[in-house]
Amino acid sequence: MEKREELYTGKAKSVYRTDDPDRFVLLFRDDTSAFDGERKEQLNRKGMVNNRFNGFIMEKLEAAGIPTHFEGLLSPVESLVKKLDMIPVECVIRNVSAGSLCRRLGVEEGQNLTPPTFELFLKNDALHDPMVNESLAITFGWASADELSQMKTLTYQVNEVLKSLFDAAGMLLVDYKLEFGRSGDKIVLGDEFSPDGCRIWDKATRKKMDKDRFRQGLGNVIEAYEEVGRRLGIQFD
Ligand code: ADP
Ligand code: UDP
Repeated sequence: MEKREELYTGKAKSVYRTDDPDRFVLLFRDDTSAFDGERKEQLNRKGMVNNRFNGFIMEKLEAAGIPTHFEGLLSPVESLVKKLDMIPVECVIRNVSAGSLCRRLGVEEGQNLTPPTFELFLKNDALHDPMVNESLAITFGWASADELSQMKTLTYQVNEVLKSLFDAAGMLLVDYKLEFGRSGDKIVLGDEFSPDGCRIWDKATRKKMDKDRFRQGLGNVIEAYEEVGRRLGIQFD
């Protein structure tokens, strides 16, 4: 496999074409952004930590029968993935109230949500990723009813796998965002699962161990990501 030109530079990752038309390379950079790209910083080791973290989680999900784009690690900061036609709708599941849910509905942070909630957001920084629903997604052609139904089912399946994984390691999976894409007629989990796109709290102390440390200026961001990874059994350099 040969890495070719860069196709897209995102806020945290870059996407490269390869000599295989069906595969891309994802490069995990140290860039970190919050508030739709308004605040940006470089966090040493973040690319490596998220690349390894994501590879570990994607392999767990694949083993549980969830189709993912992940094919393998290529270097400390690069992964080989299946090329997907990305669906611009983000799926969010919440097990505990936090973040935009609290701001939007005025609920207190830290409430158990039973059953876990499922929300859709349009991936659009200029519009600040507005919340949308199935009807809007279908009417505007972002995804079909069948695709949305598969995305919802898969997002809940991911919750079952990951909730127990984090629980067994003394952590609470508060919420997370997933992105899916099309590979032929299949819906496949794409993008990444890392502490950048989920909330993880220590079960006993409720210490925040995810990107909220960056958003809220709590410090020790990558140290917390690495601690989450180590508790799950991930080896970092
Ligand atoms: P953003 O676009 O939000 O700034 P990133 O910096 O993470 O995000 O950039 C990675 C981009 O690559 C995202 O737009 C994501 O949707 C896209 N992507 C992730 N996985 C794949 C894939 N397998 N095929 C095609 N695009 C992908
Ligand atoms: N999230 C994300 N990317 C986004 C929006 C949300 O990774 O563009 C993740 C976020 O890290 C959290 C979950 O999705 O784990 C729910 O985010 P929320 O709606 O609470 O928004 P936020 O408070 O992060 O703005």
